[in-house]
Amino acid sequence: MSHSEIRVRFAPSPTGYPHLGNIRTALFNWLFARHHGGKFILRIEDTDVTRKVEGAVENIIDSLNWLGLDWDEGPYFQSQRLPLYQEIVRKLVNQGPAYLCYCSPHRLEEMRREQIRRKQPPKYDRRCRELTVQQRAQLEASGVTPVVRFKTPLEGETSFHDLIRAKVTFQNDTLDDFILLKSDSYPTYHLANVVDDHLMVISHVLRADEWLSSTPRHILLYQALDWQPPQFAHLPMILGPDRAKLSKRHGATNIIEYQRQGILPEAMINFLSLLGWSLDDKTELLSREELVKHFTLERVGKTAAIFDKDKLEWMNGVYLRRLTPEQFASQAIPFLQRDLPSSVKRPLDDTYISIIMPLIQERARTLADVPHLVDFFFLDELEYDQSLLIKAMDAVSATKAIETSLERLKPLEAWNAVSVENILRPLATELGLTTSKFFGLLRVAITGRTASPPLFQTMATLDKQRCLKRLNKALQKIKEQK
Ligand code: GLU
Repeated sequence: MSHSEIRVRFAPSPTGYPHLGNIRTALFNWLFARHHGGKFILRIEDTDVTRKVEGAVENIIDSLNWLGLDWDEGPYFQSQRLPLYQEIVRKLVNQGPAYLCYCSPHRLEEMRREQIRRKQPPKYDRRCRELTVQQRAQLEASGVTPVVRFKTPLEGETSFHDLIRAKVTFQNDTLDDFILLKSDSYPTYHLANVVDDHLMVISHVLRADEWLSSTPRHILLYQALDWQPPQFAHLPMILGPDRAKLSKRHGATNIIEYQRQGILPEAMINFLSLLGWSLDDKTELLSREELVKHFTLERVGKTAAIFDKDKLEWMNGVYLRRLTPEQFASQAIPFLQRDLPSSVKRPLDDTYISIIMPLIQERARTLADVPHLVDFFFLDELEYDQSLLIKAMDAVSATKAIETSLERLKPLEAWNAVSVENILRPLATELGLTTSKFFGLLRVAITGRTASPPLFQTMATLDKQRCLKRLNKALQKIKEQK
């Protein structure tokens, strides 16, 4: 492995299902690796046993697979590497930059409360930093299991060059003597993260802004271990449209939820790529290949990106329209299976579906819209409010319009969009109705709604019998209304 090689990692903690922000981080790392012909590594940071969430690892893997973010190494699990971290901690303790701390959780909690009461930033008071040999022996004998803390320098500052934010400096006295090894002998995030980035020869750490304040601690650790730190790039925050930190309130946060909502992976990739990166000020639609070709950190912004669900759905609509009719139908089928009312008989008829899908491909923004857009093609009985039938005209005119339509359509033998239109279009004039009113009425009778795919194609697809039945049903409904 050459040291100039680009090696990046996605290092999620399985403390929850990955959300948009996590996956944006994964994507930027992946794009960076692919752009430079480097390696993308998956590392599961599962050292917080108490916060581990069942199924999170599987969900992380499913999310990456769904989006086609393939990794070259891993998944590595930190929980399987414990001796490695323990060994390094031993070295740090022996050589001086780390120390054992015997303070009980109770004492730490008291101290924290007191500091908050005094409006001081909560921070360990370093009581165990300079224990005498005797004191240590005493504490050891009392049977307390110590944690290991890092001896953060008491003064001076720690700086690093961030590839996005340029020079970043932290005053050391604002940093805590943070824990490296917990009393359960598991490493903390700080320790395991640094050790693994070093051992896995990570060249660049691209991670969310929220980790920026951890970086000086990491730099101090690299220095204490005499290791060369990787380059850092902290990605801008993602905010909701209200400029508040992105949260559940702004819609589904678990990325797989978007798959359930009928977002295409390619649209998601394109959308996520623009949360903090841009090619120029105008290009919105970029394929995966174009993103790989153009992705550079120079074009990652410093200011927060705004998550706009409406834009995601718009973009998804664009990607849906680009599918061939066959692709669109096959993508839509699972959603039809899942969301068409249970009264619709399964299995669904694939040939029938392939006739219907082109009628709505232009109109769907997500695949989950599809069942609702087409359910009237599948239902035997339509549920709709009869007042829709007499919205544009009175009951007498509506009755007459439908009765006449029925009369003219009944003898029609070759039932197709053209023959149906040839009968109905002239009828509007004959009835003294505008086509918009007349067709609007028929649309409600045939589909149960005021907006639908083109009326004559819809009628042709539904077949004669069902159309006549629905027109009769509409007559009945108008009567009931009276
Ligand atoms: N385990 C951290 C997370 O959950 C990784 C942060 C980092 O990339 O250093 O995001």
